[in-house]
Amino acid sequence: MADKIKSKVYLVGAGPGDTGLITVRGAELLKIADCIIYDRLVNPALLNLAADKAERIYVGKIIGADSKMQQQQINKLLVEKTAEYKTIVRLKGGDPITFARAIEELSALSRNNIDFEIVPGITAGLAGAAYAGILLTDRRSSSQITFISGREASGKAHSDIDYATLAKTAGSIVFYMAISNLDQIATQLIANGKDPQTPAAVIANATLPTQKTVIAPLSEIALQCKEAQITPPAIVIIGQAAKPQKEFDWFSKKPLLGQTVVITRNKKTNVEFAEKLFYLGAEPIDFPCIELQRLIDAETFKKLTERLGDYHWLIFTSANGVRFTFEMLDKIGKDARLFGQNKIACLGSQTAAELKQFGITADFVPDIFTGKELSKQLGQFDNL
Ligand code: SAH
Repeated sequence: MADKIKSKVYLVGAGPGDTGLITVRGAELLKIADCIIYDRLVNPALLNLAADKAERIYVGKIIGADSKMQQQQINKLLVEKTAEYKTIVRLKGGDPITFARAIEELSALSRNNIDFEIVPGITAGLAGAAYAGILLTDRRSSSQITFISGREASGKAHSDIDYATLAKTAGSIVFYMAISNLDQIATQLIANGKDPQTPAAVIANATLPTQKTVIAPLSEIALQCKEAQITPPAIVIIGQAAKPQKEFDWFSKKPLLGQTVVITRNKKTNVEFAEKLFYLGAEPIDFPCIELQRLIDAETFKKLTERLGDYHWLIFTSANGVRFTFEMLDKIGKDARLFGQNKIACLGSQTAAELKQFGITADFVPDIFTGKELSKQLGQFDNL
């Protein structure tokens, strides 16, 4: 006999911000997760992939003053949730291992004999460089990349970063969590022999419509970031690869960059529309003002369909109308054949496209999408 299915925790990389940058595997797991425990740097729009009934637990706020203690709470939560659920997704920004305290979480799971899988993600350093048009391994100048955490220096009298070695390191140096220490990092690198003119780039909110890039020589980068009011999250790239190359800066050519757009439709269509705006560079603000509800019950609907033979034309005025109709049709155990005796008109190409999903091609769609125009143009048909 098969064993009872064991719970599993999936440590999933959410990618750096742009929801399109999660892996296919990560997205699939979000869809089937019973519970999602997510961090501050995870784009919350990714949670739209999850089932309505999935429990969503935000642990971003927890990391704060006493982060060691807070991390223990997350470890404990992960273990506890396996008693309640089968599929738990621990969703972490970027790659789930890179500078992400994965060791604490995986050790807690392993200690408690809990199965886990790791789904890597696109780390902010690589994504930020790509979205700023910075080629980290430009063959002419850089054949290595060094990833460094800049936070460790914070508050410590003595830094563990070996600046003497780092200053001599060729290639591209990518700092994470370095904004609050940028001045100190640049000063130390220069003091240890790095050329003050070495190009440096800072990319904040990488891959999001709010992405901001500052490029300056190493000796000036901290000051310029302050002037540009750069705030975390941001990555810092130091090396020849960071020198400005306008021709590769594809991101700032997006047509709606810097614009915010409030979307007031319903929740579902907002998500689809927001995605389109996002890829054009705009920052969508989800503000659903419409809620769709069915107005009649299945019994009333059934009665109405019994009179379909009295009509020549059936008119669908919105894609939602199409969806609700077919939902009701299903409820009363019928299908599209019920409309076989009617001619069908649709208001708008979207409505017609939705209808097509259900196997019906509209007989007529007016070229101007208004009710008035529809009634006017329907007059051309002689069976009215
Ligand atoms: N696991 C993450 C890193 C977590 S450490 C990853 O692989 O990307 C947090 C740091 O990541 C931030 O301080 C910042 O340096 C960087 N970071 C995360 N998201 C970022 C973003 N959208 N833009 C710029 N830097 C980001």
